[in-house]
Amino acid sequence: MSFQSIVSSSQLLANLQQMQWTKPTEIQRKAIPKIQQGNDLVARAQTGSGKTGAFLLPLIERLMTLPLQSNRTHAVVIVPTRELAQQISDVAQQLMAATPCVLVTAYGGVKINPQMMALRQGAHLVVATPGRLIDLIEKNALNLSALKCCVLDEADKLLDLGFQPELQQLLTYLPTKRQTLLFSATFPEALQQWIKLVSANPQQIVVGVAERSVKTVQHWLHPVDKKEKLAALTALLEQHQFSQVLVFVKTKKSANQVSQHLTELGYLSDSVHGDKSQAQRQASLDRFKMGECQVLVATDVAARGIDISQLPAVINMDLPKVAHDYIHRIGRTGRAGEKGVAISLVCADEIELLRAIETALQRLVERRWLDGFVPNHNLPESAVRPAKKKKPHKKKLARAQQAANSNAKRAQTPEGEPAQKRPPLRRKPPIG
Ligand code: AMP
Repeated sequence: MSFQSIVSSSQLLANLQQMQWTKPTEIQRKAIPKIQQGNDLVARAQTGSGKTGAFLLPLIERLMTLPLQSNRTHAVVIVPTRELAQQISDVAQQLMAATPCVLVTAYGGVKINPQMMALRQGAHLVVATPGRLIDLIEKNALNLSALKCCVLDEADKLLDLGFQPELQQLLTYLPTKRQTLLFSATFPEALQQWIKLVSANPQQIVVGVAERSVKTVQHWLHPVDKKEKLAALTALLEQHQFSQVLVFVKTKKSANQVSQHLTELGYLSDSVHGDKSQAQRQASLDRFKMGECQVLVATDVAARGIDISQLPAVINMDLPKVAHDYIHRIGRTGRAGEKGVAISLVCADEIELLRAIETALQRLVERRWLDGFVPNHNLPESAVRPAKKKKPHKKKLARAQQAANSNAKRAQTPEGEPAQKRPPLRRKPPIG
């Protein structure tokens, strides 16, 4: 299948050529026709498989002919991190080049005023993080009543505990008649109920092997003692001579310390974490993407969504607290079909985190000894436990159902069309 067979706008085709996207990736081949038919969609695709293009291409093609309406947008892409919002916007800008499409990017950590000003003329597409999106709506800078399509990218994280309140609130602002697209590399079982709430009879697409592995990434772990981790990291850097590495650590403090240590050893190193301003975080990522930094030490702010082309390696100096973040972290390498390695340094204290990761992967992570670092504190054996089916939190689910129901009652499209029939929400009996 060629882009010509699924994209009809000659300007979009020219932009694709400019970007050197010669043919659609698997997710783009599967998702674009379904989106064009107006279906709701739940797409599970490996990170790095081209999912951004899969939702942006049909959206831009559909929206670019629509007139702008002041303080309104035709589509919104909601993402969990500012970095991902910026990255998606960068791709959108390239795809929209020389079209009438207007894009507004909105995330926190930067002044809200320029975003409010930009929204005055209206937008075809807004790419936003949930908190800032709510702020803009509450300040009457943005009204979603004309919305045609809502995309939740990295939907698992968005629907995850941390974002549930924001999402519940956003549900009440969305018109009932809309297309909803959910994209993610992972869809834990507990979130299936939420998917039913935000989308209507969605079509399902799975691309590549399930969430449990990233095919092009070879990953293993080295058991090491906790106090030896820094020395083990430098030994790994010496041994492998990676052109670039993304190193994940647990805390902001250790991100600074490790980066400082590596700089003293002569590496071009930098750190990104939540204590840095958005501008600093973006500047560090840009330097890393341009190859001006060899080792970027990061907390999980960089685990998801960030696309660094040809990144050869990820090192987990600490395991993530949330098992699924392991998949997202190692997915920073091996993108767009490139090969990558992901190495974890695991101490005895982290055995429960390792077990949770191995349960999420449904297989053991290969263990290798690192010369000179065989630990004194043995890393206990682990065994793959059967994956648990977690029940969603009843109270939270009931609240969200209420929000969605009240939305269904009051949301009319701006043209006053009757709302699209969505499946009835089963009400839970009152709790407490
Ligand atoms: P994503 O999964 O959307 O983050 O995309 C991962 C990488 O694949 C990015 O560097 C994209 O620029 C690239 N990409 C996406 N679609 C295509 C395509 N059809 N042809 C070539 N590269 C692509």
